[in-house]
Amino acid sequence: MVRFRSQQLAETVVVRDPVHGDIQINDQVILELLAAKEFQRLRRIKQLGPVSFVFPGATHTRFEHNLGVYALTRQICQRFNQKYVTQTPGDGLWDPDNQLLAECAALLHDVGHGPYSHTFEHLFGTNHEKIGQRIITDRSTEINRALRRVAPNFPDAVASVIAKTYPNPQVVKLISSQADADRMDYLQRDAYFTGVNYGSFDLSRIMRVIRPFSGGICFANSGMHAVEDYIVSRYQMYQQVYFHRVGRSFEVILQHLLERARFCYQQGNLPVTPSLAAFLADKWQLSDYLQLDDGVMETNFSLWTQASDPILADLANRYLYRRPFSSVKINDETKHLLPKLTNLIKQAGFDPTYYTATNSMFDEPYDAYKPSGKNANSQIELMQDDGSLIELSQLSPLVKALNGTFQGDERFFFPKIMLSQSAEPQIFDPIYQEFQKYVRNGELRYLRRPNRQHH
Ligand code: ZN
Repeated sequence: MVRFRSQQLAETVVVRDPVHGDIQINDQVILELLAAKEFQRLRRIKQLGPVSFVFPGATHTRFEHNLGVYALTRQICQRFNQKYVTQTPGDGLWDPDNQLLAECAALLHDVGHGPYSHTFEHLFGTNHEKIGQRIITDRSTEINRALRRVAPNFPDAVASVIAKTYPNPQVVKLISSQADADRMDYLQRDAYFTGVNYGSFDLSRIMRVIRPFSGGICFANSGMHAVEDYIVSRYQMYQQVYFHRVGRSFEVILQHLLERARFCYQQGNLPVTPSLAAFLADKWQLSDYLQLDDGVMETNFSLWTQASDPILADLANRYLYRRPFSSVKINDETKHLLPKLTNLIKQAGFDPTYYTATNSMFDEPYDAYKPSGKNANSQIELMQDDGSLIELSQLSPLVKALNGTFQGDERFFFPKIMLSQSAEPQIFDPIYQEFQKYVRNGELRYLRRPNRQHH
């Protein structure tokens, strides 16, 4: 393989990070990537989007996360360089020539994200992974220019690591597997900035027990409990933070707001910034995408709070001033009630297209092996003293219990007023009462707090 090398800086640059401490930079290319316009824009995109409506501290950005994944990848590479350097081809150990490639791929792994990625992708058919590839390989970007200074084929190599097509599985799995630098950074970082206690795990121990093998990355058997802890943390973060019902409520409002904006745009009746207009008109280019960030989106929402269209104005107000929809958990047995509830919401004066939604969020905390899907071939292996590998759930009863399960729920979202006892216009009272009969007192009631213990 080609040996990618960057010019070394005369002096180490240190960036202080609240999660990982001092992050050191010695390579010219890393500094240039950080300085690139397409990377700097990540400062203006929150890592967790509307989750900050629930956990106000969670305003950290994609910029910090990408930098954190770089820092962890660098730490892991340095440990591999010290302890596991390959001696003979095919011995399954680490080739230090991969370090710069791994570090650049780590730094750029989420560079294609835009504001509110999930909602945006759903609505406008964008794909942050594909856009990331383009930002890296398109000769017009500053990121591409910085990478080309290392070698003409370096941008393609970095893009192939992120696309998981690069032939060396160790490099690929450092950045994408069930226990990779990406997940380790976001779990710790999101736990830190949300202020919750359950997301933290013993990262420094994990860093000591991680090691390469021919098929990728594994952990020494002695680190099993640290890895277990990481899986449990991940499970808890999904249930408590990423799947929080109020955060999801704002995803729902955001989606309906943008749908209504598209409708108003088509009617020729929408104040909107040019970059977002390009998406509403379905005529966007990479340059439009790169213009968008949280601030641009919020500027549009702010304009829309004054719009003549009442639905657009109302949804924009709900989003900007944090007025969430309420929600109730649903399942196959209770879904038959949704048409009835939707009809009551309509009778109360709300257009169900914009004021109701079902939203399901499920996560697989750990998957020992499934030949397809996003975790394919990335089960976590523990290396025994004799060098053999045993898959984690074979050894850990805790992980075995979570293995292959899907955790999460499906919820029905609706305006909060449907639940308020003191709804004013008397004429609507029977509607509210009937709605509440189902949701508060009736069939759906016991589903509201499913985790409450009964003694
Ligand atoms: Zn990431």
